[in-house]
Amino acid sequence: MLLHLLPAITLASAAFEASNFGFEWQQRLSSLGLEENNVTSGGCEAACAYLSDHLPIPDIQPDSETAYWKEKSFFWSAQQAAISPKCFVQPLSAEDVAAVVVLAQQTQCKFAVKSGGHAAFAGASNIQDGITIDLQYLDEITVSEDQTVTRLGPGNRWTDVYSHLVPLGLSVVGGRDSEIGVGGLTLGGGISWYSSRYGWALDGVRSYELVTASGQVLEVNLESYPDLYWALRGGGNNFGIVTRFDLETFPQGGMWGGSMITGPDTLDQVLDAFHDFAYTSTGDVDAFSFSAFCWFQEHKMFIASSTLVYARPVESPAIFENYTKIESMHSTLKMRDMVDMSAEISSSSPNGLRESYWTATFRISREMLQVIVDIWKEEIEPIKEVEGLIPALVYQPMTSDVTSRFAKNGGNCLGIKESEGPLLNINYSVMWKNEEDDEAVLHAARQTIKRSVEKSKELGLDHRYIYQNYAWHEQDVFAGYGEENRERLREISKKYDPEQVFQKLQPGYFKL
Ligand SMILES: Cc1cc2nc3c(=O)[nH]c(=O)nc-3n(C[C@H](O)[C@H](O)[C@H](O)COP(=O)(O)OP(=O)(O)OC[C@H]3O[C@@H](n4cnc5c(N)ncnc54)[C@H](O)[C@@H]3O)c2cc1C
Repeated sequence: MLLHLLPAITLASAAFEASNFGFEWQQRLSSLGLEENNVTSGGCEAACAYLSDHLPIPDIQPDSETAYWKEKSFFWSAQQAAISPKCFVQPLSAEDVAAVVVLAQQTQCKFAVKSGGHAAFAGASNIQDGITIDLQYLDEITVSEDQTVTRLGPGNRWTDVYSHLVPLGLSVVGGRDSEIGVGGLTLGGGISWYSSRYGWALDGVRSYELVTASGQVLEVNLESYPDLYWALRGGGNNFGIVTRFDLETFPQGGMWGGSMITGPDTLDQVLDAFHDFAYTSTGDVDAFSFSAFCWFQEHKMFIASSTLVYARPVESPAIFENYTKIESMHSTLKMRDMVDMSAEISSSSPNGLRESYWTATFRISREMLQVIVDIWKEEIEPIKEVEGLIPALVYQPMTSDVTSRFAKNGGNCLGIKESEGPLLNINYSVMWKNEEDDEAVLHAARQTIKRSVEKSKELGLDHRYIYQNYAWHEQDVFAGYGEENRERLREISKKYDPEQVFQKLQPGYFKL
């Protein structure tokens, strides 16, 4: 009898108590044959063998070499692709996901969950010798009849979503890079071209279908489970596996946008333009921009790449004048749609390289913008010749328009008030080729963040927030949400996951 192995459910929520947990599970376990086959231990070896021999859920075992290696190559970073799980499993439904979550607990096999596989560090969405749950077949895209909500499976990448919605004249708040997964981006935040208008992707989720640790499939929204709904909007992979996101949907036509690359003598002008934009764009909710400072190894020079998007079909809008007056070496600015725009963003981030992402948040001043660039330049000096090095320091504004949307639907759990905007979000992103250079490359990134934060404290411009989707595993993301929010998230996690399955059996990514 396996039921005794399932976590004890002692939950306060009336709706949760009222559910038919036991009945569902008796049925599910016997339909899976788990009881008769007595799969109660044996770790991942037993779990993967059972998946392969008894469950009608697609799986990939290491002995099917081509499929196994192909599956590994779908991770974005080389560090994640280097990890070899005992097996991959590819559920076809929320019930399949629930079965795998229960099987993992029966066998005490650790697992990881993959949507688009773009988290950079090892173990974020793949797990050595465990089960990697690949959600790629949960690929529903359904627009409601009144066209106000789109149901999305986490197996979609944003290219799938926009390719479906653009011909309908619709969009959702989602990723800017076509290859990113719906799952990771939406659970951690989701900075979009539409964020000034509607907030981050997480602010646009009306409802989640969630598989909990006990294997229940819950419909989570503001009415059904308000605490869990709050926690999922920023809580990452800590509360369960989301098998469907219902996103607010809006009419969207064409846009104007692209990137302009400017030379080493323009960095000051770009910083000026960024600074002005962060303040003056407030109120113009269709404008969004970010600027990346890069070391161009081949030509031994620093360049800036500013990406500007106006989410209406308006050619070269005045709001971007401070950028567009800068002489550019190359520009892709033009009228286009979201499919085209997101494909362009993706083209500079191929799979298969060593990757690292770091982040920090600051209050904006022109001096602070300069200080961070100067520190970044100093820190990459010793690694400039590392093979295949592409370091970028990306500045993104979190304008007051953006922070004002964080209060939508009862508020998200990021811990940022409207009055705190505009803020500066930095993303230190670096690609390189060889493992032997890891230490030097990571040291430079770590130092850049550490020194920038120290300097911001001296200037009174520090901010505690650490954006989950851009953070390196050494960074304490949930401390950045504020102690009160972190404590509340821990309580909600214990309420819906009393055995702490998603903290212990799923060790990857940012834990509470
Ligand atoms: C090239 C590039 C461009 C980017 N552009 C943007 C951008 O425009 N805006 C932005 O905000 N961020 C952006 N990011 C950051 C991106 O949002 C994060 O890397 C995000 O985690 C990737 O999501 P994914 O589903 O592809 O990754 P994955 O590695 O599959 O997942 C990331 C984490 O989320 C968990 N997870 C995924 N799906 C689920 C689910 N359904 N249920 C439970 N847990 C789940 C995984 O277990 C993992 O821990 C970008 C990153 C890269 C590399």
